[in-house]
Amino acid sequence: MFFASDNTSGAAPEVMAALTAANEGAARSYGTDALMDLVTDRLRRTFEAPEAAVYLVATGTAANALALSMLCPPWGAVFCHRLAHIAEDECGAPEFYTNGAKLVLVDGAHGKMAPEDLRAVLARTGAGGVHGVQRGALSLTNVTEAGTVYTAAEIAALAAEAKTFGLPVHLDGARFANAIVATGAKPAEMTWKAGVDILSFGGTKNGCLGVEAVVIFDPAKAWEFELRRKRGGHLFSKHRFLSAQMAAYLDEGLWLRLARQANDAAGRLAAGLTAKGVVQSHKVQANMIFAEWPAGTADRLGAAGAQLYSWPLDDGREGARLVTSWSTRDRDVDAFLAAL
Ligand SMILES: *Cc1c(COP(=O)(O)O)cnc(C)c1O
Repeated sequence: MFFASDNTSGAAPEVMAALTAANEGAARSYGTDALMDLVTDRLRRTFEAPEAAVYLVATGTAANALALSMLCPPWGAVFCHRLAHIAEDECGAPEFYTNGAKLVLVDGAHGKMAPEDLRAVLARTGAGGVHGVQRGALSLTNVTEAGTVYTAAEIAALAAEAKTFGLPVHLDGARFANAIVATGAKPAEMTWKAGVDILSFGGTKNGCLGVEAVVIFDPAKAWEFELRRKRGGHLFSKHRFLSAQMAAYLDEGLWLRLARQANDAAGRLAAGLTAKGVVQSHKVQANMIFAEWPAGTADRLGAAGAQLYSWPLDDGREGARLVTSWSTRDRDVDAFLAAL
């Protein structure tokens, strides 16, 4: 009953098999391996972006921080939601890699920004001239940190606000596969067609061992990214082991199949919670559930063998986050509901 995060899951058998296969013999190093050509080809096809530059790193934090360093100058502001992973969970890596850009937080219910709220923050940033940070870049997350999902049209509407000021757009897609499954949107519609310039395309949480792709839709930026990745210590010498994971992940829609399993498991869990009268703070649209229940519930579930995050709510009750993964089984969900 591991519901603390989707990163408590293992790696999918197809990914492990690909790693074992990649272990045979020798391969070129530092991203010049043949498997990386396959990855680039598969991601370009997936995104209908034949020119896109594609790079692999091992963590989402590296993907996000390197991507933002490409888009925002040191004196710039990166606009993101108050709950954004880049603001809450990356130990200042985006600020570090951008050489000091400032994260400017945008509020919004259920982990999502509304265009008018973004517009207001954009309008007042930089108004003080040389004394304040200047507008730099917009960073969105899909699936959001609240487990909700932006449609492709919503991404496009937010990107349009940024483009009004000439700003580039980054999308943190640590759970991009779950968002695609949830919306049925095409990857291209959710990204470059909506105005996204650079995507962090997650693999780790959804069945890889440890790999994330950075998809850069403007190929003119490729060389700069290569230099930044190397300088930042994220260019793997035995790169084939990153490539092998991502190649397998993209093979025959495995990434979507795994995400569907995760989303379906969340649907089963959410339905079970609803049947028990458990209030959920946000709509369950992908693979994350935010429950509200009496204080002490999480401890008792923990004693029964469940793992989850919980925190006190202002009204004395308890909030909890439950995340399902590609490896969550129906019987794990049912055991959890029985324990509850
Ligand atoms: C997990 C996650 C990441 C990546 O985190 P790492 O621990 O650095 O791999 C990035 N963004 C979001 C929204 C996440 O949930």
